[in-house]
Amino acid sequence: MTLQPDTFKSLVKVAAEQVIASAPELTALDQAIGDGDHGTNMKRGFEAVLSKLDAIGSQPLAEAVKTVGRTLVMTVGGASGPLYGSFFLAAGEALSRKTLPEDLAEVFGSGVDAVSARGRSQAGEKTMLDVLVPVLETLRANAGRADLIERVRATANEAVARTAPMQATRGRASFLGPRSVGHIDPGARSSCVLLHAVCEGLEGKQ
Ligand code: ADP
Ligand code: MG
Repeated sequence: MTLQPDTFKSLVKVAAEQVIASAPELTALDQAIGDGDHGTNMKRGFEAVLSKLDAIGSQPLAEAVKTVGRTLVMTVGGASGPLYGSFFLAAGEALSRKTLPEDLAEVFGSGVDAVSARGRSQAGEKTMLDVLVPVLETLRANAGRADLIERVRATANEAVARTAPMQATRGRASFLGPRSVGHIDPGARSSCVLLHAVCEGLEGKQ
């Protein structure tokens, strides 16, 4: 797997389109345990990313990833904007020192650490980290395997489902206490949508 700026541009396009298409679902999930804005937040952010696609395609990969991060910080809003923004800013920063595909888990891990630091959160609290952390573990455990993409996809799906029985202890859903149980976390779902889009883009199937 090589990741040229132009490949990244097409991945960003697929990811943005799929997030935008999933906005109604993300909104419905956030209506159940939040304030119902996650779909519109993400849609606004990824429309802004799409509008910068040409610039993203012309930048070196590390810069392009940071441009995505900066755009999300500025446009998504809510709790998720700074969190997703931090992910891409830190991953971009890591990429300026690392190489792909060898260091994929390390680069992804830098993004996960940034979310965790920014959100003062960790896996098990019913947030996007409940997808990002298991996927990081899959990347670490299966580096270089031919079925890595398939494993990432399966991990993300299983991880989203596992957020339903959790009680939220971070973010808006935590205000509901035990009433947050029984619902999928919206940010976990949007992380899954993003990861699926990247997997699909890397397989060249889209
Ligand atoms: P808001 O909660 O401000 O309305 P969004 O609805 O856009 O923002 O995003 C909500 C999602 O953000 C949650 O479903 C959760 O996955 C994620 N989130 C919220 N707080 C945190 C946190 N402290 N750490 C990690 N993720 C968080
Ligand atoms: Mg919300």
